[in-house]
Amino acid sequence: MAQVSLRNVCKVFPGNIKAVDAVNLSIENKEFMVLVGPSGCGKSTTLRMIAGLEDISAGEIYIGNKLVNDLPAKDRDIAMVFQNYALYPHMTAFENMSFGLRLRRIPKAEIIQRVNDAADILGIKKLLNRKPKELSGGERQRVAVGRAIVRKPMVFLFDEPLSNLDAKMRVQMRTEIHKLHTRLQTTIIYVTHDQVEAMTMGDRIAVMKDGILHQVADPIQVYDHPKNKFVAGFIGSPPMNFMQGKIIKKDGRLYFDEGKIHVKLVDDIRQKMTSYIDRELTFGIRSEDIYDKLFVSEAPPENIVRVKCEVFEPIGSEVYLYLNTGKHTFIARVGAHDRPKINQDMDLVFDMSKAHFFDKDTEETIV
Ligand code: ATP
Repeated sequence: MAQVSLRNVCKVFPGNIKAVDAVNLSIENKEFMVLVGPSGCGKSTTLRMIAGLEDISAGEIYIGNKLVNDLPAKDRDIAMVFQNYALYPHMTAFENMSFGLRLRRIPKAEIIQRVNDAADILGIKKLLNRKPKELSGGERQRVAVGRAIVRKPMVFLFDEPLSNLDAKMRVQMRTEIHKLHTRLQTTIIYVTHDQVEAMTMGDRIAVMKDGILHQVADPIQVYDHPKNKFVAGFIGSPPMNFMQGKIIKKDGRLYFDEGKIHVKLVDDIRQKMTSYIDRELTFGIRSEDIYDKLFVSEAPPENIVRVKCEVFEPIGSEVYLYLNTGKHTFIARVGAHDRPKINQDMDLVFDMSKAHFFDKDTEETIV
């Protein structure tokens, strides 16, 4: 079991394509770290550099205190599970899982023991004699995970392992990989573009964009205290609502003014916001922090905004309202039985204690 450490790691592909830009990241022993970000942000390249499948342009990678920059992939004591499973089609599940062990000349009895133990953990004992084409996507993925487990590596690397599965199977495998981590007590680095996977699986998540690491923290910290507008918008579904506007001062109080909507800031953030008075900035609020006034018993009048609901989507447990202030559109998640009138004025209440503000130019979080 091991710690993995990246120090100023860069990857520049031919043509001066900067895929990874000075990434510093320490993954603790037994930690489940998720690298998450939009397509092309450099997360797979980072993982492949850790695995030794890609050269490092600059910086250092340590696995268990050992500098591995020049160590071949086979000597790094890691196992990787790929999106496309990468199973040998002509081999049975047993042969696929034992292949690496046979190459290492592990005694036959031990191979059988390890494969059976892994198959037991993954619930695939009955499938060991089948070839990949005789398995479902989820079963193939289990075999691919089993092949990694039998090697008893110091570190597991997962590259979008659930992307090829249907929605239901993704949720099932998500919990299985989570349970596997608890059971194996090993370091896992897991790459995904799916922020729900990141939120639900990671002890910590590392959010990347354009080769740069924007924030590393536990999922709730990232959700509640995003470091900048990109992280705020990327983590969370539906994404955080953003509106451009100004901070104005009236009767000694501070308000966010969007033109059509006008809401009072909570007193706690006054000090931090004073330097933004009369300046443009971005206001952010999550869809669950907006309420239909009809269902709020004592709504503070200065937090009420009048909007039109253009569409509503009942999804069973709640209803998504697609709203328009006249200047901005945004989404609210309200109670399952809320049925606003379409294209007519309705009043909402913003929970301003949950408001986020971002600098218009740097996009860094102000509060
Ligand atoms: P995805 O989720 O789509 O797999 P990613 O975040 O894993 O994306 P990478 O595959 O790491 O992104 O790619 C990062 C950047 O490097 C992209 O701009 C990509 O086009 C580029 N890139 C990746 N591999 C190569 C390569 N072999 N040669 C040139 N450019 C590459």
